[in-house]
Amino acid sequence: MTRPWNFSAGPSALPLEVLEQAAAEMTDWQGSGMSVMEMSHRGKHFTQIRDEAVADLRELLSVPQDFEILFMQGGATAENAIVPMNLIGRNNAGKADYILSGSWSNKSYKEAQRYGDIAVAASSGSDERIEDLQQSPWTWFPSPDTWKVRPDAAYLHLCSNETIGGVEFNDWPDLADLGAPDVPLVVDASSHFLSRPIDFSKVGMIYAGAQKNAGPAGVTVVVVRKDLIGHALPICPSAFDYANVAQAGSMFNTPPTYAIYIAGLVFKWLKRRGGIAAVEAENIRKAEALYGFLDRSEFYQNAVHPSVRSRMNVPFFLKDESLNSRFLSEADARGLLQLKGHKSVGGMRASIYNAVPFEGVQALITFLQEFERQHG
Ligand SMILES: *Cc1c(COP(=O)(O)O)cnc(C)c1O
Repeated sequence: MTRPWNFSAGPSALPLEVLEQAAAEMTDWQGSGMSVMEMSHRGKHFTQIRDEAVADLRELLSVPQDFEILFMQGGATAENAIVPMNLIGRNNAGKADYILSGSWSNKSYKEAQRYGDIAVAASSGSDERIEDLQQSPWTWFPSPDTWKVRPDAAYLHLCSNETIGGVEFNDWPDLADLGAPDVPLVVDASSHFLSRPIDFSKVGMIYAGAQKNAGPAGVTVVVVRKDLIGHALPICPSAFDYANVAQAGSMFNTPPTYAIYIAGLVFKWLKRRGGIAAVEAENIRKAEALYGFLDRSEFYQNAVHPSVRSRMNVPFFLKDESLNSRFLSEADARGLLQLKGHKSVGGMRASIYNAVPFEGVQALITFLQEFERQHG
């Protein structure tokens, strides 16, 4: 019996090989006589697990030496507060700018308002004509030449993959070209982290909750340039001060040891698959197959502008929405799980993260075709 294909947006599918390795090591990690859950985080076993996870991630993403890799807690939601608490005090202006492109960036923007003078640099929250297409709010991404970045902002924040809206923007500009050479770009990359390379020359920091594409819930990966560390506001909790976390090797307090261990197994799985370039090529192939099918169909539709469609999260609608519940129950029966769209958008959403192979996307397309044939 084959395992069902899991299209959840998060927590989401993990590679079967990783789950099987974790199962095999559950009661005795590599002859230690202990489960990873039962080890002291300061002992030699877990220290090795942490060190390998950091080194593998650095290698996978070619993270430059002037960036720290931190494992934190609280998810990307906590980072919405942790980022301003750490960065807004970098200069004396107390300002930060945000690009609004959907649900997650809006949440980041709202939370940041508690910590300083926060402005919108650009927003896709209105209708826009792009080329010959009329785009509704949050289905497009503001072009960098329209961004208004204050040169004295402590940072500019954007969400590079809006998990709910299915909008992905990876063409990060050099902020010097926008008249803001001293403003670092801060990116919430939660839902496409490890799906494609990252150009660290363009960013000051990125963060990602692991449970989308990198591991289980409970650990947040932060990759932050060293010069941005050490400016935390006095109100910043010590455990959330990047300086403390970096200095303690992500062990300022007890880290989420099991989540780090599983994320570490995912990093090794990615390396075995040929690294991020190979994984990206597969992700492009998967996304092209699915969007290509949706575009050719009269029965389904996707509303996102083609230039910024997410390779990871594919929201789509049945033109006849009265068929939605039937669609979901038939999909479920076919072993195609968790396709229901987010409640704020409706319709369906297929999240096709790294752990969903081309074969899973193919199985989804086959089902979409059959359902259309029966009900179209
Ligand atoms: C899921 C998600 C979040 C929130 O993550 P939590 O772990 O629930 O805090 C934030 N940003 C993006 C882009 C996400 O996909």
